[in-house]
Amino acid sequence: MSKLLEVKNLKVNFSTYGGEVKAVRDVSFHINESEILAIVGESGSGKSVTVQTIMGLLPKKVSKIKSGTIHYKGKDLLKLKRSELRKLKGSKISMVFQDPMTSLNPTMRIGTQIAEGLIIHHNLSKREAKIQALEMIKLVGIPNPEQRYNQYPHEFSGGMRQRVMIAIALACKPELLIADEPTTALDVTIQAQVLNLMIDLKDKMNTSIILITHDLGVVAETAERVAVMYAGVIVETGTVNQIFKEPKHPYTWGLMESIPDMYSDQKERLIPIEGSPPDLFAPPKGCPFVMRCKYAMEICESKMPGDYEISPNHTAKCWLNDEQSPSAEEVIALGGAMYE
Ligand code: SF4
Repeated sequence: MSKLLEVKNLKVNFSTYGGEVKAVRDVSFHINESEILAIVGESGSGKSVTVQTIMGLLPKKVSKIKSGTIHYKGKDLLKLKRSELRKLKGSKISMVFQDPMTSLNPTMRIGTQIAEGLIIHHNLSKREAKIQALEMIKLVGIPNPEQRYNQYPHEFSGGMRQRVMIAIALACKPELLIADEPTTALDVTIQAQVLNLMIDLKDKMNTSIILITHDLGVVAETAERVAVMYAGVIVETGTVNQIFKEPKHPYTWGLMESIPDMYSDQKERLIPIEGSPPDLFAPPKGCPFVMRCKYAMEICESKMPGDYEISPNHTAKCWLNDEQSPSAEEVIALGGAMYE
């Protein structure tokens, strides 16, 4: 599989009255062609800022890309002219946002909004664009396309509006779709329908998808590979199997313990991750998870761990994976974390 997009050493800061927030801290990852990659993490972990940087959507006045590259098919998106990036967005790279009501134009008919991109990016006539827009409405499973084409966003339910957003994003047949919490505002049944629709479209159109979510259930059902983000850093990456069956980072262990096992017939207590994420005005010098980790050692506080390769495709940023480190059990036997 070849890489479609590769982010390397990305650092993004925000200027606020209180100082500089280090929102994304040396993030590197890639997505292959025709693959679904989930970026998972709690609110404020930097996942949305990362994809907004890819899309060139950061507010210019308060944000600063301190370093890094974002290569899309060999071109660094951060070095493209605005006009070149605009051309790429919408035609090759599209985005679906969390809240369709604020992303759709309430004064424009749905059909016109879907056809607009086709007219701009593919130079289609209005008539041709309408034919393709109707096909997209059908493809995303909205019944009565002819009638729905002429309706306004407020005439659609939440799930249907999200389908419209997906139709707009996919109308120009992008190679990469970025979906930022696309199902968070939907109820569980509609959520499943929208996720199935995205998987289906990926299979039919070979679209790669970066799925941003905090919901591990969504990750398990949809993604092929996962990047776990914490406090602006990717702390673990791997295939869905590797992350769910053999996680190698204490934060990922914590995430796994905090989701119910629907196949277990035992009554089990869910264990929340104690504490809160670090202050990103002054993040820890070493591991970002150090203050919440029950295995923290002295080195964790002073030095950021590297990405340890556990197996092909699987890396974890944790000192416990160093060959000279005691195991997690040994740390506990020695009295547990230095911060407890
Ligand atoms: Fe971070 Fe150390 Fe805990 Fe690993 S053991 S997650 S490096 S604090």
